[in-house]
Amino acid sequence: MTPERVDVPKARHAGPAAFQPDAIEQEVLRWWKTENTFEESLKRRENVKRYSFYDGPPYATGYPHYGHVLQTTIKDTVTRYWTMRGFLVDRRVGWDCHGLPVENMVEAELGTKTKRGIEEYGIEKFNAKCRSTVLSRVEEFTALLHRLGRWADYSKAYRTMDASFMESAWWVFKTAWDRGLVYRGLRSSPYCPRCETPLSNFEAVQGYQEVTDHSVTVKFPLQDEEHTYLLVWTTTPWTLTANAAIAVHPDLRYVRARVGPEIWIVAKDRLADVIREEYSVEEEFTGSTLVGHAYQPIYRFVEPTTPAFRVVAGPFVSHKEGTGLVHIAPAFGDEDFRLGQDEHLPLIQTVDIRGGHFLPVVGPESWRKGDVWEAVPAIVEDLDAKGVLLRDETIRHDYPHCWRCSKRLLYMAVDSWFIAVTKMKEQLLKNAEQIQWVPAHLKDGRFGQGLRDAPDWAISRTRYWGIPLPVWQCAACEEYAVVGSVQELQKLGGDLSVLTSPHAKQDLHRPYVDRVVLKCPHCGGEARRVPEVLDVWFDSGSMPYGQWHYPFENRELVESTFPADFIGESLEMTRGWFYTLHVLAGILTLKDLGLGTGKPAFKNVVASGLVLAEDGRKLSKRFGNYPEPDGMVSKYGADTLRLYLLSSAKTGEDYRFSDQLVGDLYRRFTLILWNVWQYYRTYAGSRQEAVGNGEQPSLLDRWILARTAQLASEVQSAMDAYHLDDASRALIPFLDDLSSWYVRRSRGRTEALPVLGEVLRTFSLVAAPFIPFLAEVLYRGLAKESPHLGEFPSDVSAVLDTNTQRLLEHMQTLRELASAGQRVRAEAKIKVRQPLAEVVLVGTFPALEATGEEGLALLRDELNVKRILSALSPPDGSYVWVDVVGGKLGLGTELTQELRDEGIVRELIRQVQELRKQAGCRFDEEILLSLDTDDRSVRAAIERFASLLREETKSGTVQFQRGATEVEATVNVGKASVWLGVKRQR
Ligand SMILES: [Zn+2]
Ligand SMILES: [Zn+2]
Repeated sequence: MTPERVDVPKARHAGPAAFQPDAIEQEVLRWWKTENTFEESLKRRENVKRYSFYDGPPYATGYPHYGHVLQTTIKDTVTRYWTMRGFLVDRRVGWDCHGLPVENMVEAELGTKTKRGIEEYGIEKFNAKCRSTVLSRVEEFTALLHRLGRWADYSKAYRTMDASFMESAWWVFKTAWDRGLVYRGLRSSPYCPRCETPLSNFEAVQGYQEVTDHSVTVKFPLQDEEHTYLLVWTTTPWTLTANAAIAVHPDLRYVRARVGPEIWIVAKDRLADVIREEYSVEEEFTGSTLVGHAYQPIYRFVEPTTPAFRVVAGPFVSHKEGTGLVHIAPAFGDEDFRLGQDEHLPLIQTVDIRGGHFLPVVGPESWRKGDVWEAVPAIVEDLDAKGVLLRDETIRHDYPHCWRCSKRLLYMAVDSWFIAVTKMKEQLLKNAEQIQWVPAHLKDGRFGQGLRDAPDWAISRTRYWGIPLPVWQCAACEEYAVVGSVQELQKLGGDLSVLTSPHAKQDLHRPYVDRVVLKCPHCGGEARRVPEVLDVWFDSGSMPYGQWHYPFENRELVESTFPADFIGESLEMTRGWFYTLHVLAGILTLKDLGLGTGKPAFKNVVASGLVLAEDGRKLSKRFGNYPEPDGMVSKYGADTLRLYLLSSAKTGEDYRFSDQLVGDLYRRFTLILWNVWQYYRTYAGSRQEAVGNGEQPSLLDRWILARTAQLASEVQSAMDAYHLDDASRALIPFLDDLSSWYVRRSRGRTEALPVLGEVLRTFSLVAAPFIPFLAEVLYRGLAKESPHLGEFPSDVSAVLDTNTQRLLEHMQTLRELASAGQRVRAEAKIKVRQPLAEVVLVGTFPALEATGEEGLALLRDELNVKRILSALSPPDGSYVWVDVVGGKLGLGTELTQELRDEGIVRELIRQVQELRKQAGCRFDEEILLSLDTDDRSVRAAIERFASLLREETKSGTVQFQRGATEVEATVNVGKASVWLGVKRQR
């Protein structure tokens, strides 16, 4: 508990080279561990109000990256802060276990390429492998989180694959079903032909990649007008095999254009772009007159089941691209599908959803060598051979790919289970009003808009490793039986013994759950489970309930901590986790089940931007454009990395991660803080007097205490608003004020030390949520306890009254005057160490009036002048003038012999201090100083200011001859050369 336990560098003067952030932080981690500081921080708040935090579960299958480092820093900072504000903050971590990320890893290991491959291998063995793979990186994850200082309960981590979690998810599903919000339907969805499953729209936008496609314009001949063609443009020529109609905008103007012997029909606005041949317009008309016309299909491999191949009205048709006529394949595309339903068009299915290649009846053998995308060149050749290909060009555009396996997605009409989000949108929007967003624009922007536009949520995946849909279907009457618990399975006649697996007594995973046969509640027939599993985003959206096995256990705990006070994840989660949490909470609070009514899942959310490389690209192993987190932590320490991530970008904007900028912050902040701390320890020693000591504190002391109050107040109000960027940024200029103004101006002032101690004590409490390690070292050294067990210094920020504010402003003015004077001195090329006679101020300076003699003394010292005069107008003489706020400042540049002599001696003092350092003197150790020079003026100067020299360099004896020394040097002072020797006197 004592500061002596800090691994303080052994060197006598602790320079920057001696600071070892990694070693110090490791030591702090050991304290926390041996003293159970985290557990103690919870225990001390056992009987107070809870602050509720939900931890979004990461996948522990890959190595942790900077996104995880950032999220962990945000979560840790917020939860430490609210603990220090006096709340009990439970911090349970969790792991996302199911879904395609794991399945793909296992498939890669097994070398299976299709679902058939998995089924041949066996679902039981496949899922067992998923189970053993999914937590393979938990140790690496936990180690990094731990090293970053993240306080959390790792031992009680929840896992989405635990039977208790899965049962809660079933209960959520059943509740939605009971409220009429789950349905099964044929809908167009993004579909991965390799993973053989539909995906949600959110998943589809995760995987945009730029691709080059054929961009073709083709001619469809009209049925009853000879040589007349409808021109159509498409970038997916393979969908022409499934064409069922052509859409025109009913109100748009179209033309019949004669080109040679043919008539081409195209939107008037597109004429110039589409027809590059010589043409003449024969007729102009509106789209509605075309509706109903029949045309000849290019392909007819699959017979349509309802009337097809006619022109239909499509209000979405645009005059901005293509030909103004849109080819419609209801099986492949959302708009196409919906128009198909409205127009009763046939769903012409030409693609095998297993693998994404053409069905055997479609095209020649050569089209089926790969998937439909690979068949495109052959199709284009075929279109040309048929004489319907008007133009074949290429286009580069972004197209969605599978976020897990990178395969190009198809938009396909597939059978899926949905949550009817559109049915409860009003309520969801209302609930969202209660959420506080950082950044604020997300509320009505990305999240609000996403909510308004949200389609129904496709929640089923035709896969293996996931929470099985708790839906059984009767073979006889085809009715569904939906269960919300294991007990309900039993009630419906299910034999629970089949659920026993090598992993659990009641394992709800496939294939065990598939073996449960129920008795149909409608007709008594045999009901079997449908094959689908739930979207993994359903899992994570259920975590508020699943993590505590709600409502089967922990009812009181869950209900009293719902909704969460805070969650924090990446901005991408506005359409992922944030969204699914919100939808499921909305469903569960439609009626009061104990969770209240009309609730969001969380009250405050911090959504952070992406961590990009310095060059603005994504961090990528392949580009090698970023340093590994582990290396950065050991080089600069977790504190610096945390502070960098919190402060270097506005919350919600992308980060440009730069080794160099982390290094800058390390030098500009961390090292300075360490040096101030070492300075304090060196000079304060064991003396730790209370501030004040009866005497009136000096201007500088009053100022730094006011500045500290200001910092506490700024950080508190920013943190209360979840503005972690503003809060963390406030620490940096404060430390600069402390070190480059307060400490520098207070050197040699022993009465400043207890004030510095007090300031560092408050600072370490304020900074503890952000830089928990150094804050720990400092606070222990000062208060013999961990700051994380303490209270945030709200009492300090409370003293920030008008007088204190004014004091801060006055000091600011004094510093501005000082730096103006220094600028003038530099322009006049007079060294800082050369004392000058005076500075003259012309004008009104309330700051000087208010601070009186103390303010003047500060300014005199800082400008190294003998006096500061005020005048009504600029006096005659050698002055250099500069405009300052309130008037003018004139620096007297005339040098008397006395001033010159003092300048020489001050320069010598600086050189001697250098030698003292080299000799390894303690700060108060006496030396024997030897000098030798031929220069008469230097000798005269030394004689004149002998006592100054002796005092400042702590020289017991000064001798004008070369003598025994420990360290010596020949230095230049002005034009003279001086030999100096330093010997310590023991
Ligand atoms: Zn895939
Ligand atoms: Zn039945």
